[in-house]
Amino acid sequence: MSGAQRMIPVAKPLLDEREVDAARRAIMSGWVTQGPEVAAFEREFASFVGAPYACAVSNCTTALHLALKAVGIQPGDEVVTVTHSFIATANAIRYCGGIPVFVDIEQGGYNIDPDLIAAAITSSTRAILCVHQLGMPCDLTRILEVAGSHGLPVIEDAACAIGSEIHLGGDWRKVGTPRADIACFSFHPRKVVTTGDGGMLTTADPDYDRKFRLWRQHGMSVSDTVRHGAREVIYESYPELGYNYRMTDVQAAIGREQLCRLPVIIERRRQLAEQYRNALGDIPGLATPVEPYWARSNWQSYCVRLPAAADQRSVMQALLDRGISTRRGVMNIHLEPAYADPNSFRRASSLKNSVAAQSGSIILPLYAQMTSEELSAVVEGLHEVLGRRQVAAARA
Ligand SMILES: *Cc1c(COP(=O)(O)O)cnc(C)c1O
Repeated sequence: MSGAQRMIPVAKPLLDEREVDAARRAIMSGWVTQGPEVAAFEREFASFVGAPYACAVSNCTTALHLALKAVGIQPGDEVVTVTHSFIATANAIRYCGGIPVFVDIEQGGYNIDPDLIAAAITSSTRAILCVHQLGMPCDLTRILEVAGSHGLPVIEDAACAIGSEIHLGGDWRKVGTPRADIACFSFHPRKVVTTGDGGMLTTADPDYDRKFRLWRQHGMSVSDTVRHGAREVIYESYPELGYNYRMTDVQAAIGREQLCRLPVIIERRRQLAEQYRNALGDIPGLATPVEPYWARSNWQSYCVRLPAAADQRSVMQALLDRGISTRRGVMNIHLEPAYADPNSFRRASSLKNSVAAQSGSIILPLYAQMTSEELSAVVEGLHEVLGRRQVAAARA
């Protein structure tokens, strides 16, 4: 391979002069943190997902923390979730002193197996934290059924799932439409739209929304915008412990532009996913992701299962040598040193599907600006690398 060959990245945010102008608008206004742009972004986001309330925060990890706190997670409380997720999912439970209870993902998929939830519930369980992994909706209908029969709140880790849709109660609904209690979104550059860093909480519960707004700003009784606009002197108070989880107005201004682009971005990602599916079907042993009939993914990531004989690291290296960047499958939280203490989590089922997915799958490049030529190069690379390995294995 020549050093001059252009790399195909695994992901790339779509940002241009529009976001530059938006950031400039916020900076030149003189109001640069949690103010009018944040308020407008929240209104537009709420209307996009179809939620009564949306509250912007500094990132999705802080959103998860506030969501768990709002449903009342206390030290020693158990929250049922998955180990097959980004570490922030479980870390947020631990921020509250809670215990992440891990159940396995479905065979062949990347989302929680709803059949395992009931058996994981004990008298200490206080919530279910489900993840729409890689942008693919998890089976919220069945999760809500189990939660309902045990009287448990459901929080959605929708970090990856902006614009993904679920068929719920007879209609297609965007993830974040309040069927569950609270949904948490991320605007990290690795997600479908970005504000650099950033997060959003959606809910139908005005009391939760009020708490998010209090806690994100140090627990301060009066917001800066209210105090700034007041004709009379106002002294603020701090009725309870809060945090600094604010989003800035510069981020929100960028987010508003990103939200305008989101439908086009998702449409393009769906086209690319369809092209991958059609072009990779004939590689023996390779499995492309399956979209259940009740789900429409935003394809935040395109994760494929490698043939059983293929070695993940060598496949990734061979692709990298051809200028194609990939990532291994989603991590397993319980295997990280930060979870070495056996008291830091509870294992409520075998986690074999989760472990197999981490070592047996890879994430292929997918981004809105990706050209069909780039996609063909990835497909050809995979055919070459896996085809050759099959031959080598047959000869051995
Ligand atoms: C990215 C991600 C997060 C964390 O989002 P941040 O905005 O970076 O805090 C949480 N959960 C999942 C599943 C993610 O993919």
